[in-house]
Amino acid sequence: MTRVIYVNGRYLPYHDAKVHVEDRGFQLADAVYEVIEVGDNSLVDATRHLTRLWRSLSELSISPPMSEPALRHVMGQTIRRNRVRNGLVYLQVSRGESPRDFLFPDPPVPPTLVCLARATIPAQVDQRAETGIHIITMPETRWKRCDIKTVMLLPACLAKQQAHAQSASEAWFVDAEGLITEGASSNAWIVDRSGRLLTRPLDNTILPGITRRTVMDTAASLGLVVEESPFTVAEALDAAEAFITSATNTVMPVIMIDGQRISSGTPGPLCRQLRRSFARVAEHSPVGYVPSKLENQAFAP
Ligand code: PLP
Repeated sequence: MTRVIYVNGRYLPYHDAKVHVEDRGFQLADAVYEVIEVGDNSLVDATRHLTRLWRSLSELSISPPMSEPALRHVMGQTIRRNRVRNGLVYLQVSRGESPRDFLFPDPPVPPTLVCLARATIPAQVDQRAETGIHIITMPETRWKRCDIKTVMLLPACLAKQQAHAQSASEAWFVDAEGLITEGASSNAWIVDRSGRLLTRPLDNTILPGITRRTVMDTAASLGLVVEESPFTVAEALDAAEAFITSATNTVMPVIMIDGQRISSGTPGPLCRQLRRSFARVAEHSPVGYVPSKLENQAFAP
């Protein structure tokens, strides 16, 4: 259970954790976010996640709310105050609080920073990975800057809701050329019949997934071939294996697409191998890590 949430310089009890109604995140989805896995008391791939957060902020010309070491301190405090050993930490940064206007506030206002931590049960995710998940496909409905991790998630919510209504757990978007872009909250992968791993190359149509990147490193460490190449729904249906990647799932096998079984309809061997080897390759930084020069520094933006 989440007990304490960090909001703009204060660690507040859950029910008191609020931002203003004129916060631009609430009014205009003018905000970005990150989700980082907490595994066995360490942050998984935090450096890559924070690098992507800084890039998302820079693409939207939002100032970072604090330095990276200070943000790591806030995450550590939030995780510890919520006694999370395994779970996730969520960061959101909006452009800040200002009377509603399409134009950016001038002069700029301080960005809003929210950090919360939540426990998960790793055994439940592992159990899902043993079985594999079902997904559906649907036309792409999102904007043309999916490379920025913004909170503008309504198309993703609608897609997930539709998947849920069809007893599936993820939806893959399909572009106008019939090629799969990515999942509503994950990157999409297949293993073709010659054993090549395929995932769409990075451009504005997909989020540069951190897990995607680390899975590429994991595949290289196992001598597997990865091709950043787009694939169609028909190719996915004909694949030897399919899977999704995201921080909260790492590597999650897909066994059914649009009601059709993939290969034997059970998680495939490469997918299992990647899932097992992921932790060895990912970066783990201890949650308690605080650079000593920060000890007496003020963290409020
Ligand atoms: N693609 C989308 C649209 C996502 O929302 C996410 C995660 O939230 C991902 C891909 C996977 O990214 P990551 O591996 O960094 O969690």
